Amino acid sequence: MHLMHLRQRTFALHVIAGLILGLVSIAAAAGQTITKNVFLITADGLRWQEVFRGAEEMPLTKEFGNHGNSNAIRADFGRETPGARREALLPFLWGTVAKQGQLWGNREKGSHARVSNGHNFSYPGYNELLTGIADPKIDSNDKKLNANTNVFEWLHSKPGFGGRVTAALNWDVLAWILNTPRGGFPVWSAWEVPEGTRRLDVPEALTELTERSRTVWANVVLDTFVGYAAKHAVRTIKPRAMYVAFGETDDWAHEGNYERYLRGAREFDRFVGELWALTQSLAEYRGTTTFFVTVDHGRGPAPVAWKNHGKEIAESAYVWFAVIGPDTAPLGERSNTPMVTHAQVAATLAALVGEDFRAAVPSAGPPIAELVQRSNEQQ
Ligand SMILES: [Zn+2]
Repeated sequence: MHLMHLRQRTFALHVIAGLILGLVSIAAAAGQTITKNVFLITADGLRWQEVFRGAEEMPLTKEFGNHGNSNAIRADFGRETPGARREALLPFLWGTVAKQGQLWGNREKGSHARVSNGHNFSYPGYNELLTGIADPKIDSNDKKLNANTNVFEWLHSKPGFGGRVTAALNWDVLAWILNTPRGGFPVWSAWEVPEGTRRLDVPEALTELTERSRTVWANVVLDTFVGYAAKHAVRTIKPRAMYVAFGETDDWAHEGNYERYLRGAREFDRFVGELWALTQSLAEYRGTTTFFVTVDHGRGPAPVAWKNHGKEIAESAYVWFAVIGPDTAPLGERSNTPMVTHAQVAATLAALVGEDFRAAVPSAGPPIAELVQRSNEQQ
């Protein structure tokens, strides 16, 4: 009880400090960033533990969720040190983002990032991430149109962004979370969408393959189709603000299949690397694009609770994020950072493209100032 109280007080102090920092920096940064295009990319429920330490040793047995070939997992993901293991699992994050951008959320090094919605599951998490508000009224994953304004629909209403905002969504509920009929920008989803939603134009083959691949889960599509839709959007409508949502990691984890969870994480990393390479090959994006890569919630610790998340698993509030782009200093893996929450992400995405989301949504969390500082330092 006492510990809890202390933690909450420390948390409040961090929030206040972050608020002041955020205000100072945003006043300085308004309209002065190099970033013209911003991508939010999520991997549902991928733990910070794997991101910073690589594959766990423990679950690589049948009892702890390995249904596959232990030798293959060990060959692909097992290494002597946590540093080598994380590079084997997430080569783009550790080979490129760690050198050119920043990674936050390694709790072993005093970097704490968390959701503040108290639920630690998907709808509350995505809502907090996309709208900047940890809304106590959102307490289920039901398909209810979200009353809160998200940063993508807000950017869509800004000059220069109209027609250049889109999303590729793996999970059926995300279209409701984004309130796509109200947002008005086109989205790709493998599933039924709320009436009035605009759909992204994609090749017929993608639609057919997606529909025929719904044999694994009833409301989550395989990530490969999401990745293809996202690349297609970049090649065709050249979005300036895009949200790409992947989700195999969460579903394999709920099934207790650690091997597939790891393989899902590695494919996710490969996709982020490919999308980054694609953007850097195009004049519209080269040198003016920022990626913000994160999750909607964490999970419990190994060897058993890693499969799940939620209110009853306190550890699952902790998340991580990786940012790469021209306004984010290349500080790599961060340590001893101020406590940040996912309610700060929406305003951070806006600040990266020189916009002030809190002018429209004052109750949204403040931007994470340390991610939007390189251009200030240069001036
Ligand atoms: Zn989940």
